[in-house]
Amino acid sequence: MIAPTALFALDTLLTDEEREIRTTVRKVCDREIRPHVAGWFDSGELPARELARALGEVGVLGMHLEGYGCAGLGAVAYGLACLELEAADSGLRSLVSVQGSLAMYAIWQYGSEEQKQEWLPAMAAGERIGCFGLTEPDFGSDPGGMRTTAKREGGDWVLNGTKMWITNGSVADVAVVWARTDEGIRGFLVPAGTPGFTAHDIKRKVSLRASVTSELVLDGVRLPDAAVLPGARGLSGPLGCLNEARFGIVFGAMGAALDCLETAIAYAGDREVFARPLTSYQLTQEKLADMALELGKGLLLAVHLGRLKEAGTLTPEQVSAGKLNNVREALEIARTCRTLLGASGITLEYPVIRHAVNLESVLTYEGTSEIHTLVLGKALTGIPAFH
Ligand SMILES: Cc1cc2nc3c(=O)[nH]c(=O)nc-3n(C[C@H](O)[C@H](O)[C@H](O)COP(=O)(O)OP(=O)(O)OC[C@H]3O[C@@H](n4cnc5c(N)ncnc54)[C@H](O)[C@@H]3O)c2cc1C
Repeated sequence: MIAPTALFALDTLLTDEEREIRTTVRKVCDREIRPHVAGWFDSGELPARELARALGEVGVLGMHLEGYGCAGLGAVAYGLACLELEAADSGLRSLVSVQGSLAMYAIWQYGSEEQKQEWLPAMAAGERIGCFGLTEPDFGSDPGGMRTTAKREGGDWVLNGTKMWITNGSVADVAVVWARTDEGIRGFLVPAGTPGFTAHDIKRKVSLRASVTSELVLDGVRLPDAAVLPGARGLSGPLGCLNEARFGIVFGAMGAALDCLETAIAYAGDREVFARPLTSYQLTQEKLADMALELGKGLLLAVHLGRLKEAGTLTPEQVSAGKLNNVREALEIARTCRTLLGASGITLEYPVIRHAVNLESVLTYEGTSEIHTLVLGKALTGIPAFH
C-alpha cells in the first residue's frame, strides 16, 4: 500500500525547508486542533484567541509576508501550512487565511508605516486578531455595489453601513473595512471598541461551525484620517487581498480532501461487507483510484501555482483556475468518501462529513465557483459575462 500523495511523489517537488514546515504545522494541528475540533464544530464555539496564540508561536500568521515579525517564507511553504490546517478543519485554515492573507496583507500592502508597526507584529504573534469586511447583506459576488459609506467630516471620516459573513468578526481587535467614499472605494482600520462599531455572530450555521462568522455594524463610526489605508484606491485594493487568500485555498482544499481520503481508505480496509473488506471490491477501488487521481492532480496544480507565485508571474486567472478546480474536486472527494463510510459517515466521529459541509462554504467564499468560472470564461473568450 502507498499513501495517496506518494503516488505522485509530491515530496520530490518540495525543498527540505518546505517539508519541515509542513511537519511542524501538522504537529501543531495534531496537538492543538485535531483532538478538539469535532467538539468545537458540534458546539459551534471556537477558542479563537488561544488558537491564534498557538498558531502565532509557530509563525504561520502572515508567514508569507516580509518583516514586521512575519516569517517571510515562500508561497509553497505557506500553501503547505494551509493544507495541513485545512486537513484538520477548514475553519482553522479560514482563521489563518483571514488573519494573514486578508487583514495582515491589507495592512502590509496598503498601510502606512505607523499602521504596519502598530498592528503587524502583534498580529503575527497571534496577540491581536484581524478581520476583513468586504461583503454586505446585498453585495457578495458584486462587492463594487457596496452601500457602506465613509464621509469626510473635518479631519475625520465617518463610516455607516453593514458588513455580512465576516470571519473572525466578533473576536477581532481590528477590522479592515472597505467603504465607498467620494474618491472611490477605500480601506479603513477600525479598532474593536470604537463607538458605533459592533459585531454580532451569525448563529445556526451548519458549515464552518469551528469558525467565527459575524455581521459588522458601523453606525456613525468616527475615525481619524490616520485610519485610512493610504495605498489602496478602488476595488483593486480588496481584490488584491482576496487573490492572496484564494491562493491558500488552492492548497487548503486539497488538505481537507486528503484527510477524507486517508480516513476512507483506513475505514474501508477495516470494514467487512459480505465477509470481505470493503477495499477488496472493484467498485470501491474505482472510487479510491479516481479520488487519488483528482487529489494528485490538484496537489500538482497547487505546487505549480505556488512556484509561479514565487517567481512573481502568477495571474489572478490562474488563481481562479486553482480555486475552482481544487475546491470542486475536494468537495466531490469528501462526498464520495462519505459514501464509503456508510452510516458512520454522517457522524462527527469521523472528519468526513465535517469536511464535506465545510467545503460548501469554501466553494462560496473568496469568489463562488460560478464567479471563477466566469473569470475563466472571460479569459478564454475576451467577453465578460458577469452582467
Ligand atoms: C463562512 C463564510 C465566511 C465568509 N467570510 C468572509 C469574510 O471574512 N469577509 C468577507 O468580506 N466576506 C466573507 N464571506 C462572504 C463571501 O465572500 C460571499 O458569501 C460570497 O462572495 C458570495 O456572496 P453572496 O453570499 O452574497 O452570494 P451572491 O453573490 O448573492 O450569489 C448567489 C449565487 O448567485 C451566483 N452568481 C452571482 N453572480 C452571478 C453571475 N453573474 N452569473 C451567474 N451566477 C452568479 C453565485 O455564484 C451564487 O451561486 C464569507 C462567507 C461565508 C459563507
